[in-house]
Amino acid sequence: MWAMIATWRMALEGITAGGEMLENNASAGDALEKAIQDIEDFPYYKSVGYGGLPNEEMEVELDAAYMDGDTMDVGAVAAIKDFANPISIAKRLSKESVNCLLVAEGAEKFAHKEGFERKNMLSDRAKIHYRNRVKEQQQELRPYIGHDTVGVVSLDKAGKIVVGTSTSGLFMKKKGRVGDSPIIGSGFYADSEVGGASATGLGEDLMKGCISYEIVRLMKEGHHPQEACEIAVNKLDAELKQRRGKAGDLSVVALNNKGEYGVATNIEGFSFAIARENEEPAVYLVKNIDGKCVHELASQEWLDNYMKTRTAPLKEN
Ligand code: ASP
Repeated sequence: MWAMIATWRMALEGITAGGEMLENNASAGDALEKAIQDIEDFPYYKSVGYGGLPNEEMEVELDAAYMDGDTMDVGAVAAIKDFANPISIAKRLSKESVNCLLVAEGAEKFAHKEGFERKNMLSDRAKIHYRNRVKEQQQELRPYIGHDTVGVVSLDKAGKIVVGTSTSGLFMKKKGRVGDSPIIGSGFYADSEVGGASATGLGEDLMKGCISYEIVRLMKEGHHPQEACEIAVNKLDAELKQRRGKAGDLSVVALNNKGEYGVATNIEGFSFAIARENEEPAVYLVKNIDGKCVHELASQEWLDNYMKTRTAPLKEN
């Protein structure tokens, strides 16, 4: 049994390609790397890789991580600029036994030495988004709370689980700001003896619950991935509201080593993509109704509209 699940609709083409590799006996890690590279390379997604929205200084700083659930190898980069595929750098770093999480200039030096492709990641569309945002917010530049990290959990036929993330983080973030995506246990966690999980949403809040580790821990205790996701999201959401008066966006996907999956969110409009052996890859929308998260197959109209809005010409305000 192979399977691949990912946060957000944007991952559909990537996991379709990754799924084909898994069908042909590729390893979970190689298929995941291909899936995430495709998303990083697609210029119309504004939250991952090329075309990702910049920080408040109009620089695209990217975070990515990779974890191998067999060996517990972890690699990650944070606030890295000017490299095409942060996921591949994270995967490469996971082979190191020390210096596995590198930030900013240190990450760039490593990537350069290792021969990774350099690229100016600031697209013309991202510049327009930036300038429009500056005009909207004359007095103070606040980070935009919308989000869309890609987090992928991959299971291959040999039973190996790998998890990876890639993101430009929050639009208008402070230079050097790092969210949950490259932080083990928060944005991602993988254990081939159990399964894997990944998160998207407000990193500052997701990290408070070490939410991906928590989901894998719950699955290890015997919970189905769906139960594990709901318990983790509902609990963190309630705790944040109780202690801090509000909770940021929290959305998660998980997969166990039998190919069963779970998804939960505390927002409206979360989508995920899933590809599994003998099933057509598909996109679902998720709703949290009193703690239960319902998955509804995305309609063709929704899917068409999604691409239309992503690729629509962008006007300078
Ligand atoms: N979790 C990411 C962060 O806080 C944002 C996202 O999911 O898009 O950097």
